[in-house]
Amino acid sequence: MRTAVYPGTFDPVTNGHIDIIERALKLFDRLYVVVGDNPQKSAAFSPKERVEMLKEALKKYNNQIEVEHFDGLLLNYVKKKNSNVVIRGLRAISDFEFEFSRALMSKELDKDVETIFIMTKDDYMFLSSSIVKELAMFGGDVKSFVPEIVDKKLKEKFRK
Ligand code: ADP
Repeated sequence: MRTAVYPGTFDPVTNGHIDIIERALKLFDRLYVVVGDNPQKSAAFSPKERVEMLKEALKKYNNQIEVEHFDGLLLNYVKKKNSNVVIRGLRAISDFEFEFSRALMSKELDKDVETIFIMTKDDYMFLSSSIVKELAMFGGDVKSFVPEIVDKKLKEKFRK
């Protein structure tokens, strides 16, 4: 069985993330979507809320996907799941440097783990969780960028 781990902050999950997940499912039998915390960003949603939104958005794949929160070293999580693949999405060149150093560091720590990059779909090239939050905060319509549950949660969070 081919398994992979897709880590991210998912604050909140967007259609860009869902697209990467759906494409990863064509390559792997089982995907672990792992919600972590990025020390560079302060999250709008708690880990529990982020996991719940992902679970709801991905419920039709629940025999192939597991979503959970993990706050330790990603490579330990990958080993725990008996996997050796990390999936990351790439949007613009701006993602590249960060992802490049992250993948190289991962290789340094564990040479058996491979990072696989899936290129964004052009529609989602400029889509990020931060842009979605900013739009929602100012009352913009984010329906076409996020799963239904996220649209609902954003409305609840930013309702004046
Ligand atoms: P992180 O804080 O770990 O970067 P994110 O939730 O922002 O977490 O992103 C998780 C992964 O999904 C990253 O590899 C990111 O590049 C990718 N990603 C985010 N948005 C998109 C998108 N619109 N298209 C493709 N990949 C994306």
